[in-house]
Formats: sequence, structure tokens, C-alpha cells
Amino acid sequence: MRVALVNPPWDYRNSIYFGCRAPHLPLELAYAAALLEARGHETLLVDAHLDGWSAAQAADAVAAFGPAMTVVTTAPTYLFWRCAPPELRVPRGFLDALAGRGGRTVAVGPHGSATPGPTLDKLGCDLVVRGECEEIVARLAETGFGAADSRDGVPALAFRRDGALVVTGSPHAGRFTDLAPLRWPDRWIARHTHHHHRFDAAPDGPGAEVEASRGCPYTCSFCAKIDFRDAYRRRDLDLVLAEIDGLIAQGVTYLYFIDEIFLPQKPLLEALATRDVRFGIQTRIDLWKPDLLDLLGAAGCVSIEAGIESLTEAGRAALDKKCRATTDELAERLIHARRSVPFVQANLIAVAGDDPDSVAAWRDRLRRDGVWANDPVPLYPYPSSPDYRRLWGEPDDEAWERAHAHYLGQFDRFSDIQEERPLPLRELEAACGCR
Ligand code: SF4
Repeated sequence: MRVALVNPPWDYRNSIYFGCRAPHLPLELAYAAALLEARGHETLLVDAHLDGWSAAQAADAVAAFGPAMTVVTTAPTYLFWRCAPPELRVPRGFLDALAGRGGRTVAVGPHGSATPGPTLDKLGCDLVVRGECEEIVARLAETGFGAADSRDGVPALAFRRDGALVVTGSPHAGRFTDLAPLRWPDRWIARHTHHHHRFDAAPDGPGAEVEASRGCPYTCSFCAKIDFRDAYRRRDLDLVLAEIDGLIAQGVTYLYFIDEIFLPQKPLLEALATRDVRFGIQTRIDLWKPDLLDLLGAAGCVSIEAGIESLTEAGRAALDKKCRATTDELAERLIHARRSVPFVQANLIAVAGDDPDSVAAWRDRLRRDGVWANDPVPLYPYPSSPDYRRLWGEPDDEAWERAHAHYLGQFDRFSDIQEERPLPLRELEAACGCR
């Protein structure tokens, strides 16, 4: 079977999306392509965001390939599944441009994982995959869409039959540990000049995203990973290193580990220390001992993003951080990391009850020691987060609209990362045919 896999041309105007707008490698689509090819299928990977293509150009490329199935993602790569743009106008715009020329249409991403019915209807696609998608997409192709009910035997799918929603199972968690090293086209790597979350130096060569582990053993209240990338798994070190060595051979000088929580792993750090490459991570600083922070810096880490969230123990407990360190200990650990890592960021969240003057004083204190702490950002209660379920229960067909309205109503100012006033979800999706 011919399968096209598409990262659409992201457009964040008037979105609440506060993630990075630069292109990042679509790991989930590449894993799916690798699994499909291993089973004898032909694939076409289209990254309209990286290539600067319009939806029409991406759709024409897919149509020329003549696939029996086209997969489109509803989030700008796995890196941002936990904080995706809530609106579906971009994947819908691509599917409209495709206009039936790509065979069966399949959506993967956080939207269909949490709310399959509305995602099917807003996108007008044939199927959605719930949860981590690569293995399910490969299984779907194996059915060949032969018998009318061939989809029923594939788990973690949703589709409509005679108008009724059919859900074949709960969101999928992939095995992950044995995913083979990804190989990217030289042309894509050459175009990937972005060094994600790097601020110490200008790019000196291409960057790339990689994944050494997936998921996280914690359940912070704001973290949208209930339906995907939840349980912690570590990829086989040999496979990760083979992928990294391939990237270095293609000229990559900077890696960003998209791992939800880059936990201390001495063999990986020791292996990175022997390679000429820099890298960035997101982690929890309370889980790193000083000697391992020193090894992290020696291994080439140039960027740490550490979730501190609240400056009070009560605030961190309210967010279910399960953090055993005091605020002073967290500050000490960040400052220690900064001795060998040139950019260290403490992430703060706008938590009711945190005193703005204390936050400002703490930020100033850390800044004097070279650690950057952001202006606390508001929380978006994503449907796949514990916060959403604590507020409203299991996500229903209005989940995204409810979360969006709550977010817009809660704050009268927005993070400085958001350039424009975000619009209500219905307005964002109205122009594209989602509504
Ligand atoms: S530690 Fe990070 S990845 Fe883990 S649940 Fe908390 S916010 Fe999410």
C-alpha cells in the first residue's frame, strides 16, 4: 500500500499556542514510515512546515504520489503534543486542499486521542488514531482496507459507521523501546537550521530532534499526557546512539531531546561526551545530583529547561508535582547546573496564591547567578490533563471549547510569547470549514 504522511503548514495566528514556531522533525510520522516500509509498504513523508509549502503544494505532492491512505498530524510534531494548538484549522486546511485525492484520510495527534468524535467531524477525515500513532498506522495499512469491517480489528481507532461513532479502543501506548534509528533526507537536515531552545550561541550547523525516552512517571496536574506519551519508557541506548551518529554524519551539531523528562542516564551522557555535538533537554532539576549535573554539562548540554512551576511548597503540592526539594534547594541545583551548562531556565506557571513580589525577587536572584526564570505563564487546561478532568470530568464533545473559554476568561494578560490576542476556538475554526 502507498501511504502519505503529512506535517501540514502550521499557522499560529491568534492561537493560544505558546510553543516554538520553528519547524521540528516530525518524529511520529518518520517512525510510522519506518514501520510501514519494514512491512513492504511505500511511503511519502511530506513536511510542509519545514519545506515552506502551502497546503495546496503539500496536497498536490500527496496527490501525485497516489496513496491509498494519507495520515495528517494535528500537532506540530511529538514535541508539542502536550501543548498543541487547540484549533484544527491547519490540518483541516490541508485535507480541504487534498480534496479526496489521498485515499483514506487518517488524523493522528492529541485532539483525536482525547476527543475522537469532534475531531472526526471537524476534520471530515475517515479515521482518527487515539494515542501514540506509529504502530497503529502500520497496523491499519496491514488491513489493506479490504473487508468493510477490517478497521474493527485495529485498536485505538475511531470512525463513523452509518453516522454512529465507533471507537475500537482506548488510546495506544507504543512499545517505543525498540524503535529503529531514524534516517532523514539530507535536504531536510540541511534546511533544519533551528536549534530548539538554544540561546547560548548562534547555530553552527543543522539541528535535529531525537527521542531517548518517552513519557514520565509523574502526573503533574497541568500536564496533558493522560492519552499519550504517559508511562515512562527508555529507548535502547544502541538505537539512540546509532540515530545520533547518523545525524552527526549528516552535519548536525545540535540535538534537542524531546523526552518529556530527560532523566539522568549515565551511559547516555558518557556516550554523548565522546561525540562532537551539543544538546538541549527538558527535565526536573530536583532529580539531578550535583555530580550528574557536572556530567550533563561535560557531555555537551547547552540548554536545560526545568519545570519549577510554583515557588511555594504548597503551590507545587497543589500542582501535584511530588517534589521533595525545598525552593532553596531547587535554586541551588539550578545555579549548580549553570556552572557547566550555558543556558538554564526555570519554568514558572501562574499559580493563584503565588505572591508576585516574591516571584519577581526570586527571578532577580536567579538571574544574578545566570539562571533565567520566565514570567509565570497561565495554564491551559488541555483535555488530556488531570486539571481538565478535575474541573469537568472526562472530556466530552465540547471539551476543547470549554477549556479554551476557561483559559481566555481566566487571564486578562497573556504570556509575552503570544504575539496577538488569542481568539475563541469557534472563531479560529470558523474560517476553515471545521464549523
Ligand atoms: S514532570 Fe514534567 S513531564 Fe512529568 S508530569 Fe510533570 S510536567 Fe509532565
